[in-house]
Amino acid sequence: MADIYLNNSLSRKKEKFAPIDPPSVGIYTCGPTVYDRMHIGNLRTFLLSDLLVRMLRLNGYETKSVQNITDLDDKIIKKAKEWGGPAEKVIEKITREFTKRFLEDVQKINIPLRRREDQPKVTDFISKIRKYVKELVQKGLAYERDGSVYFNISKFPKYGKLSGVKKRELKSGTRTLSDEYTKNNVQDFALWKATAEDDIGFDSPWGRGRPGWHIECSVMSQDTLGDTFDIHVGGVDLLFPHHENEIAQSEGKTGKEFVRYFVHGEHVLVDGKKMSKSLNNFYTLDNLVEKGFDPLTLRYLYLTAHYRDPLNFTWESLNSAQSALNKLRSQVLAAKNQKKRTTLSPEKQVKLDVFRKKFLAAINNDLNTPQALAVLWEMMKSNIPSEDKYDLALFFDEMLGLKLAEPMAAERRPTAEVKKLAEEREKLRSEGKFKEADKVRKKIQDLGFVVKDTGQGPEVKSAQNAQT
Ligand SMILES: [Zn+2]
Repeated sequence: MADIYLNNSLSRKKEKFAPIDPPSVGIYTCGPTVYDRMHIGNLRTFLLSDLLVRMLRLNGYETKSVQNITDLDDKIIKKAKEWGGPAEKVIEKITREFTKRFLEDVQKINIPLRRREDQPKVTDFISKIRKYVKELVQKGLAYERDGSVYFNISKFPKYGKLSGVKKRELKSGTRTLSDEYTKNNVQDFALWKATAEDDIGFDSPWGRGRPGWHIECSVMSQDTLGDTFDIHVGGVDLLFPHHENEIAQSEGKTGKEFVRYFVHGEHVLVDGKKMSKSLNNFYTLDNLVEKGFDPLTLRYLYLTAHYRDPLNFTWESLNSAQSALNKLRSQVLAAKNQKKRTTLSPEKQVKLDVFRKKFLAAINNDLNTPQALAVLWEMMKSNIPSEDKYDLALFFDEMLGLKLAEPMAAERRPTAEVKKLAEEREKLRSEGKFKEADKVRKKIQDLGFVVKDTGQGPEVKSAQNAQT
């Protein structure tokens, strides 16, 4: 098998990948909290685990890729209270609805659905979580206070091995973990939270309560993949405290190494700013589709950046991605239509092998997808026979997942927003306000459309079609 290199957050270095039990590889990804639509930043993390799986399979490994669904937590309960009605029923309604939406979104960007058992839900794991917490208490790593149970960080000397966060730093309050319960030390975190009798909760040796957030990932990952597994994936925002706490719980319980490689994906920025639900500057996949984009355009855009680099999302960059994807698809189609099988000269055979090797070297080098895309473009422009070009493009697409053999996306029709802007521009022009009209034209351009003034009045067209 070829050498694979992954950047391991545990060592902060690129390391040669060596699975515990080849050819099988276990991967766990922190999944969605199903109380709202995913934003496109969440989708970038989920794409990262899909790319890892595809890369490993292309190298001959068998993967078991697990991703949890958080269907019970404070945010969900808060939302249920807003919606009103019997709590348990409302929670079920919310989580069923947003799980469905989540699964639709990932499928639209060509992430295959997982089997049910590879997609564990918190509510199915309550008794296993309770048992796990009980064991941590018995081992002296956790303590009960007022019906809640906390992990005692001072009993786990390796705390901070992932994030490098120092216990003293935590104590001095420079980085406090927010939690509204009483604790011995500020850094201790809740494994089990006491709840009021009339609140959502479950019986436990410590009274009525529900799991803390971090514990679910330790329990579900180890239950599905074993005490020690190969790769843990998540957004970089989960590195601390979430993943640090997962390590403390899991290694505290088993005394064994929890995870061999932690792989963290960087954020998506929108117009240079950090995207978050609280800042209200996040987009969902539907927002892109509403503007006429093929969802796979987002996948293409994400492939153009390395997963460890922040990616700045703009409508302009998405528009370029759509043009590039359309161009690729038309080239692949052209190669397919030239059916004539020509004999492969030794020189061209060598070229073919070089393209294949270069592509694999790129993805095996810590998932260097920008470079892999460059190899694809170079190959499409080369003089190798069309039939081989087509075959190789489809082979590369097993990794990229861009559905290159599918027809080009239909021409984007001007959306209601664009039409309105065009009318506004026309009105300004008729009033002689050309400067303002130009500003509106710029807005239309940013949305990926151009305005052409014809004898019959202005015509709005998709920018990528206007270019060709
Ligand atoms: Zn997690």
